[in-house]
Amino acid sequence: MAGSVELVKLTKAYDGQTAVDGINLRIPDGSYCCLLGPSGCGKSTTLRMIAGHEGVTDGDILLNNRNVTDRSPRQRGTAMMFQNYALFPHLSCRDNVAYGLKIAGQSKAERHRAADEMLELVNMSQHADKLPTQLSGGQQQRIALARALICRPEVVLLDEPLSALDPFLRIQMRKELKQLQRDLGLTFIHVTHSQEEAFALADLAVVMNDGVIEQSGHPRRIFEAPASPFVAHFIGGHNVLTPNADTLAGEASRFSIRADRLGIAAAQTDLPESSARVEAIIVDVEFQAQFYFVEARLDDGQAVMCYLPEAQLDAAVVAPEQRVALYWDRAAVNRFEAPQ
Ligand code: ADP
Ligand code: MG
Repeated sequence: MAGSVELVKLTKAYDGQTAVDGINLRIPDGSYCCLLGPSGCGKSTTLRMIAGHEGVTDGDILLNNRNVTDRSPRQRGTAMMFQNYALFPHLSCRDNVAYGLKIAGQSKAERHRAADEMLELVNMSQHADKLPTQLSGGQQQRIALARALICRPEVVLLDEPLSALDPFLRIQMRKELKQLQRDLGLTFIHVTHSQEEAFALADLAVVMNDGVIEQSGHPRRIFEAPASPFVAHFIGGHNVLTPNADTLAGEASRFSIRADRLGIAAAQTDLPESSARVEAIIVDVEFQAQFYFVEARLDDGQAVMCYLPEAQLDAAVVAPEQRVALYWDRAAVNRFEAPQ
């Protein structure tokens, strides 16, 4: 049970303003968990409470079934890697990595031996004597990670660890993080506002909004069945549609349909019984290499987006200002869990 985390009605208020609002979450040992959500939704606050860098207003934090809510950061078995890496500029990489052991009172020889081991783990041995300013962003990140790992945590906490990197390096470091987590078998809790990053990394994604958890689960499950309109909007690739006067394509309440599940046909086309259809006007057609991104507008003004593979694009039908039938398999409709 090393490395399991449980949050029970965890709450944080700053001056009466609630930042985290009674969240419940179980993170199994060895998970790669991503806390995902827009800026200000409470991700960093949650992570800092797990780390013990922030007191809780209410609720409990359990690590390996032990209540650690009132314990200091060093007594928890967690280690935090900060958003800006927070490396000491005047210390060499080796001394940065060894810092936690210095605080713990280990001798110089002991802590340097351990630091060199960690530097090897993150492929940074040849840079041990450099100062952080002499390193690239990706290398600084590896040093920060080695520094977090040196105290042998069971749970590694990472706050937007990739956001300072350029897009190419971000994808490379993403793979390295995942590989390291697998190799070490530790629990990682990684905060990000990027659904792409969370989907690539997580086996448990937790979508937060305004201090609460909207949905948690495997990314595939979340993408297949977003639990709320917020989740459908936030993860992208979904249309959230509201029936107008009475119904929309047979649906009586708000629902979502994936943009890649829509077809577009000439307005008069006969469609099979299993399909729902609704008429629309094409607004824009954008070439996006693997597919076309088509924007359409329903008669009541709702915008609908479709991802259309090149092979399915009939240029005579799918052109701006054309009136068309949008259609989808009724079985592909996602109805939200909570009543809307
Ligand atoms: P996220 O990491 O998801 O962007 P945060 O957890 O940093 O969001 O912040 C959640 C909310 O709590 C925000 O409204 C933020 O302004 C507020 N907040 C965060 N830290 C503090 C603080 N130290 N004092 C007062 N308010 C804070
Ligand atoms: Mg944050």
